Amino acid sequence: MKPERKPERAVKLNVIQPRSVLNRSGMGGFTLNPYNGCPIGCTYCFVPHMKHMQLEERKWGTYVDVKEGVPELLDKQLGRLRQPTRVFMSTATDPYQPVEERYQITRRILEVFERHPQHSLFILTKQTLVERDADLIARLPRAAVGMSISVIDDRLSDIIEPWAAPTSERLATIRRLSERGIPTYLLWAPAFVPVPMSREFVRDAITKIAESRTQALSLDSLNYRSRQPVGLPRRLARDGHAPATAAQVELLRQEARRHGLARRLDLVAPESEIAELQPLLPFE
Ligand code: SF4
Repeated sequence: MKPERKPERAVKLNVIQPRSVLNRSGMGGFTLNPYNGCPIGCTYCFVPHMKHMQLEERKWGTYVDVKEGVPELLDKQLGRLRQPTRVFMSTATDPYQPVEERYQITRRILEVFERHPQHSLFILTKQTLVERDADLIARLPRAAVGMSISVIDDRLSDIIEPWAAPTSERLATIRRLSERGIPTYLLWAPAFVPVPMSREFVRDAITKIAESRTQALSLDSLNYRSRQPVGLPRRLARDGHAPATAAQVELLRQEARRHGLARRLDLVAPESEIAELQPLLPFE
């Protein structure tokens, strides 16, 4: 049964003027976060544990800074780049969180990319609002939309990612975007699986993912154990789940390969730029 949607989470909103928008990424290219803060509430979120967050006094999940002025700055920064680059949006927030409906910072960012079509853009979200921009994204020659998921079971995703779209809706969104010819990918990370993980589960889960018509699937386990959120394993265990082990991730990958999924996503750039999905993983 589909869980009832929760009302939007209340957060303290601030409008700020950032000085810079593109941050060099250790995985090559740049990261781009239209907002600071995220109300989606994933219990495994790694962002509050990042080094640059150590000075942040506000409680993660209670605030969102709207980075007004990002599109104009981005236009300037992309214009100054001599070589085509890759931009990952986003690695420390969700670009389609609820405030995007009102402020449209992400949408205005897409309009900037329309003026700089040589650069590749990887969008990553858990929200169906991305479909609002499908026309615009379809016009970008080097843009892909990714959804990240952690569990296949909607009921459990509603508990551990309380303000995200249920997994089934994320898969359905990917399917509709794929059918419009937009390059899509799925990031199943960190992967949580039933205990024990049966062959049947592996088959059914990957079949569901394949039915979304995603072009690529990237998988990873929960591997920041030293900062593992308190209570998460217990919460998962209550629902008969656990973080997938490396061996289980490999089994899922093997099944994904059988469906032609565990592969690179080719953004069909003229220079045949192949973008690796693996570096997108924020859990390394
Ligand atoms: S959507 Fe991403 S940034 Fe937001 S809470 Fe979840 S993991 Fe953290």
